[in-house]
Amino acid sequence: MRNAALQPFIKKFINFDILRSWQFYIIFHKWQSFYLRLQCGFVSVHQRKRREAKKIARERIDILFKMAERMAEIGEEALADRYVALILEISKKYRIRLPTSIKRRICKKCRCFIVPGRNARVRVKKGRVIIYCQKCGRIKRIPFK
Ligand SMILES: [Zn+2]
Repeated sequence: MRNAALQPFIKKFINFDILRSWQFYIIFHKWQSFYLRLQCGFVSVHQRKRREAKKIARERIDILFKMAERMAEIGEEALADRYVALILEISKKYRIRLPTSIKRRICKKCRCFIVPGRNARVRVKKGRVIIYCQKCGRIKRIPFK
């Protein structure tokens, strides 16, 4: 009697367990195949294309930054600002994190190329570098040790 009463519960339990184990097996298999692929250095065509696009975009950002610097030196600030806008657009589209050397020369609010002394004010205060954009008034604080 005891067994008869318990059977549905046991059946349920067993069924559930089997299902669970199958799910676990599938997930584990997927995970394993994914990591094997990674270890072999396998990447899909889509991924490869994306990587190449990112590489080209990074090169382009470097070129644009150099050009912006040159334009700022000459005194054509409008062109420098235009290059900065292009840099920001490219980094947004291809999800590229800008290096700090570029980040600190760009004002994100008014999208202008920062030239310390002409365009912006740079001060050191309480262990921080403070960059003040004179065009839009944005203040950027960078802590240092
Ligand atoms: Zn600004």
